[in-house]
This record gives sequence, C-alpha cells and structure tokens, in this order.
Amino acid sequence: MVQLENALVYDVIVVGSGFSAIAVTCNLIQRLPAKATIAIVGDDPGFGRGTAYRTELYLHRLNVPAGRMSLFPDRPESFVEWLNSRGSPLSEGDFASRNDYGLYLRDTLAALLRKRDDRCRVDFVKAKATGCVERYGASLGFLLGNGDEIAGKNVVLCLGVGNAGLPVDPVGEPAPGRSRIVRNPWRLSWLRRVAATDKVVILGSGLTMIDQVLALRTFGHRGSIDVLSRRGLAPLGHARTVITPIKIDVHTLPKTISAILNVLREKADRSEDWRAVMDGLRPVTQELWKRLSHDERSRFLRHALPWWSIHRHRVAPDVFDKFDGLIRDDVVRFHAGFLKSIELRGVAGVVARYRARGTRKIAEIGADWLINCTGMERAGIGHSPLLKEMMRLNLIATDPLGLGIQVDAHSSVVTPIGKAPGRVFAVGALTAGQYWEITAVPDIRVQARAVAEGIARSM
Ligand SMILES: Cc1cc2nc3c(=O)[nH]c(=O)nc-3n(C[C@H](O)[C@H](O)[C@H](O)COP(=O)(O)OP(=O)(O)OC[C@H]3O[C@@H](n4cnc5c(N)ncnc54)[C@H](O)[C@@H]3O)c2cc1C
Repeated sequence: MVQLENALVYDVIVVGSGFSAIAVTCNLIQRLPAKATIAIVGDDPGFGRGTAYRTELYLHRLNVPAGRMSLFPDRPESFVEWLNSRGSPLSEGDFASRNDYGLYLRDTLAALLRKRDDRCRVDFVKAKATGCVERYGASLGFLLGNGDEIAGKNVVLCLGVGNAGLPVDPVGEPAPGRSRIVRNPWRLSWLRRVAATDKVVILGSGLTMIDQVLALRTFGHRGSIDVLSRRGLAPLGHARTVITPIKIDVHTLPKTISAILNVLREKADRSEDWRAVMDGLRPVTQELWKRLSHDERSRFLRHALPWWSIHRHRVAPDVFDKFDGLIRDDVVRFHAGFLKSIELRGVAGVVARYRARGTRKIAEIGADWLINCTGMERAGIGHSPLLKEMMRLNLIATDPLGLGIQVDAHSSVVTPIGKAPGRVFAVGALTAGQYWEITAVPDIRVQARAVAEGIARSM
C-alpha cells in the first residue's frame, strides 16, 4: 500500500457494506495475490447485512428459497450447508429467515479472513464516503465522514439504492412531540410507538408493505391497516410444491413488450402453474432486457412493471397465507389510486387524499400513522450525496431511464467525459439500467464474481 499526500492508496476500495460489498470482497479475497490490499468503506453497524438482512423478526423471511441464496454461484449448496451446520433442518426449497442469512454472510466472510496465509490484506473502514477527490493520479480518492481520505486503483460502488422518499410533501399541523409519519420503516423503532388499536395507512403495496404489516402484528398491533398504491396490487406467493420452470428461448420472443406479454400469457395458460413461466424467465431476464430498445424498456416500466413485480418477486408460502388471512379478515384493506396530498392534523393524526383509480373522485383515508413503503427498487441516485457529488464531477452518469448509473456489460462505470481516474465499477441495483433484474442475491452474486475476476485479471 502506498501513502500519497493525505491518503492511503489501496488496490481496491469497496464502498458500501451490504450484500453486494460482501459478495465482491469474498470473491476478491479468493482471487487477489497476497500482496494486494482491499479497503471496505461502510457505515452500516452490521457489516454485510444492509437493509435486507438486518431484521431480527423471524417472520421477515427470505423471498428466495435457500437453495438459490448461496454467496457463490458455483457452490449453490453453501447456504443450506451453513444452515444445517447450525442445526437447522431447512433444505434447498425452504425459506430461511433474513436474520439467519445475515449471519451466514458474516460467517462466510469471517471464515475467509481467518485464512491468514497467502491472503490479501483487508481493512474495514467504518465510515461513510462523503465525497471524491481526483488528485491521486491513477487512483480515485474518497473523503470519509471521519475526516480521513483514502484512494483506490480500483473502486467498486456497492451503495444499494436507498429508500424512496415520500411521493408528496406533507402539509398542515404536525403532532406535538414525535412525527406520525414514518419515512424510513426499516428503522424498526417506530413499531414500539404504535398503540394496539391505532389506525395505520401504508403507502405502497410491495414486499416492504408486507414486511411492515407482519411486523406490526408481531408487535401487538390489532387496528386496521389501509394500503394505498396506484394499482392496489400486492406480491403473490411462491408455490408450496416444486415447480419445474419451462425453458424460454429469448431469441424466439418478439421485440415489443405487448407482443412478448401475449406470448408469455399463452405459455402461462398452457402451463400447470404460471410460476413455471416466471421461473423460466429468471435465467434469461437480463438477456431479454438487453434485446429491448430504449422505448420498449420505458414502455415496460410505464405499463407492465407492477404486474412484473408481483409475479416475479414473490413471498414465502406461509408468509403469503398469513398476509392473505389479514386481508380476508378485513384487517388489511387495499385502495388503488394516485396520492394527491398528505395532511397532518396535529393530535388527530394524518389524512392521505388520493384520486381513486379510473375515476375523478378524490377519496381520503384518515389514520394515526402514515408509513412510507413506496420501496427502494428504483430510487435512482437521489438518495446518495456521494453519487450526486460524483455526478457533479462527471465521474458517473445516470442511465437514460433514471434507474441508477450507467455501466457497460462488465459493470464498469461509463463516465460522461473521458476516463475516470482508476477503474470504477458498480454492483447491485444501481446497475439496473444495464441489467434490469439485479436486485436479488442470485443475480448480484454472478455480477460480484465477474467484477472480482475482472479486477484480479488486471492485477
Ligand atoms: C427488506 C428487503 C428484503 C429483501 N429480501 C431479499 C431476499 O429474500 N432475497 C434476495 O435475493 N434479495 C432480497 N432483497 C434484495 C436485496 O436488495 C439484495 O439481496 C441485497 O441485500 C442488496 O445489497 P446491496 O449491498 O446491493 O444494497 P444494500 O443492502 O442497500 O447495502 C448498501 C450499503 O451501502 C452503504 N452505503 C451507502 N452509501 C454509502 C456511502 N456513501 N459510504 C459508505 N457506505 C454507504 C449502506 O449503509 C448499506 O450498508 C431484499 C431487499 C430488501 C430491502
């Protein structure tokens, strides 16, 4: 490692501390020469857990079966073996808890770090990267929240996509004391403040909403929960039995979204279970996305995305049954419409007004609490001061659909002008413009390995 001006210069800096960062680091440790140096810069208290695997509630389960959650694509049994080694009877088709998955990531990384002979140096830097400096020649420098600077010849951005903000700014009179609006539901402390019979309105009807509804019930909430989203669609469940995916050859599919959907619907009608078609699409989704023109991609995002999401990102069967039971018992009620305003009414709580879907009627839902579950899948770069700063310095560019940042087919960041100092890569949902399905472990782990291999080859 070299000391340049104010900074230590590493061979690789991994920025972030969620799954993507751990996956890249594990792959690098296995591939880099002993003299190489890696720094992981992250401010997450539970290194490797990120937002997804930090929860300690058992009902917060993985939405992908254990057999597909190994860190390593070439060792698919790794997670199930880890579960079994800890006395868990779960097998590859089961849905483990997300807390267990966080522990598996921690243990896997720790096992690699324990092998001291012949392994590269790995430094964990507990800090937020707050800005960039370009004055380190062939490396890119970062300013850290703790006042330090570090630089890397290779940089891998693993920042996730953050939480989407509220769709509209609240108006009116806030309640004295604590706010009745939960902007980031992943800070689970809000659950303790909700009284058992409080009325709750949730914005967004995806996986985050289901998580929060089940967490509310676990914390003793027994009041009604109103869910508002544009279409009022909620994720579907995985099958209880093994479904054999049908084989889909993307080269035989038409080029427009509407024609592709027609073909897929026909295939689903002919299949025993529609999930066979969705699961058949899984390994070829990135290829399919690559073949779509910009206009077709944008058409997909405008018209088909909610349907894609509920069929593709499904929940464990027993989680689905539990949630479905709450709908049947009228505890959870869905509303489809466009949110127009959020009004705070002091101690009287909060009112969400919306235009009911397909009508001009403005309806309202009054509640004690409003929870923002509008999700994180497509939060772009707006959540990250670091990415905004990198944009300003022309070190990154947003992708044309605003899903994240532009990368090439090797996950190498495309800069708007010239070449960035050092080699900069991005891994995870930030690269959705290039790959589309790159939010879940089975996709990210392949990308993480490819990036680590590319860096190792270049050294
Ligand atoms: C609730 C939830 C459940 C999920 N369940 C599953 C599942 O069951 N199966 C599955 O395959 N996928 C699941 N996912 C998808 C999930 O996004 C991925 O599996 C994976 O966790 C993404 O990890 P990541 O590291 O890319 O992003 P994140 O987990 O968001 O991590 C990003 C990290 O970067 C850090 N960071 C950000 N900015 C900076 C900065 N400037 N400096 C330093 N550090 C920074 C953050 O603090 C954070 O730790 C789930 C996602 C969520 C939100």
